[in-house]
Amino acid sequence: MISRIKGTHDLLDVKLFNLIVDQAKHLLQNYHFSEIITPILEPIELYKRSLGLETDIVSKEMFIVSSENEETICLRPEATAATMRAFLEHSIQSNPWKVFSCGPLFRHERPQKGRYRQFNQVNIEIINSSAIAHDIQLITMLERFFGQILKRDSFALALNFLGCYNDRQSFKGILQNFLISIQDQLCSQCLIRKEKNIMRVFDCKNQTCQALYAQAPQIAQHVCASCALEWQQLQEQLSLLSVSFNYKPQLVRGLDYYDKTVFEFISDNLGAQTAFCGGGRYDALPQQLGSDQQVPSVGAAFGVERLMLLLEPHLNQLTFPVQPALHVIIPFTQEQQRLALLLADEMHAANLCTDVFVEGDSVKSMLRKANKMGARFALLLGPDEHTAREVMVKDMVDGTQETIHQADLVMFLKSKN
Ligand SMILES: [Zn+2]
Ligand SMILES: [Zn+2]
Repeated sequence: MISRIKGTHDLLDVKLFNLIVDQAKHLLQNYHFSEIITPILEPIELYKRSLGLETDIVSKEMFIVSSENEETICLRPEATAATMRAFLEHSIQSNPWKVFSCGPLFRHERPQKGRYRQFNQVNIEIINSSAIAHDIQLITMLERFFGQILKRDSFALALNFLGCYNDRQSFKGILQNFLISIQDQLCSQCLIRKEKNIMRVFDCKNQTCQALYAQAPQIAQHVCASCALEWQQLQEQLSLLSVSFNYKPQLVRGLDYYDKTVFEFISDNLGAQTAFCGGGRYDALPQQLGSDQQVPSVGAAFGVERLMLLLEPHLNQLTFPVQPALHVIIPFTQEQQRLALLLADEMHAANLCTDVFVEGDSVKSMLRKANKMGARFALLLGPDEHTAREVMVKDMVDGTQETIHQADLVMFLKSKN
């Protein structure tokens, strides 16, 4: 027996998965986003430059596929860098370029609840606009999606503002001084981060560190005048749009490319893994990818599997698309199978959901099977019906049956659909 790779999963029922993705696509199209598809394979250089060498993703969670001509190919661990790569590579002129993509991403990490090595994300980007109004619209849209469409109210929005590049450079000095004052109490990881990637100390899972960081200086209080104005606009506009949020000064979102707005949608129903959607502004990403273009952008992504975990206990509150009525053709013997296939072919051509039982079971057990499948009508084909060019149509809901001429069958079923 061969089993699936640890940390991957088979999805044998895709109803909930499709509901989430379809509803998201519908909403995104209403907000005038277009869908794009980028490759699963990307050069590892893309992530080394965008995410930063010191991030866990690049330093230990990459799936390396192969190395060809000095180019190392990996399975994409996230979608934003690839979307920006596509924007630059195709010299897109849209202002802004509002796009989204859905698909699998890969992380070579220890599997845990709600975290897979191959998982699916809906990734949304507004590329090439510095307007804070786009941050506001993106957050409002997501809050609408989670609150209204998925009918869940047990989540919170955490918000922080990281300022511009210069703000962060000067804040790093302030943070450094604070960390030095408490360095004998910090965990070993944080002591390394303090030297290599100082903002990431806030991502520490250690409780002692987190308690200390509650007293840390807050970057949103140390930003330049124009950033302070944007931070104020962001908070005021969100309140105006009735989007409630919690200011969370420790939220830095790990990756190196974020600046200004960062946010996470958080649920308490996922155990330790609380964020199911995150995003922010990433004005410096194009430069990190080697472009000299100024491409201010904002984006977000949410994990489909994490949302599924959140929604699974509440399936009865969701509205799934109505399945078409199923009709089952039951030939009594081998003799009627050819006719059954011909009738099924006619029904399929007429867009009727049809299945044919060809296993040669008894009529009784085939009817039981049809009932179990939730068939609307069972179409019985015995020797008598065969000769008379008729079908015995059994209504599986009320149990009544009537004889219909084969030539009238499609029209009859259409009239009942
Ligand atoms: Zn600034
Ligand atoms: Zn720590």
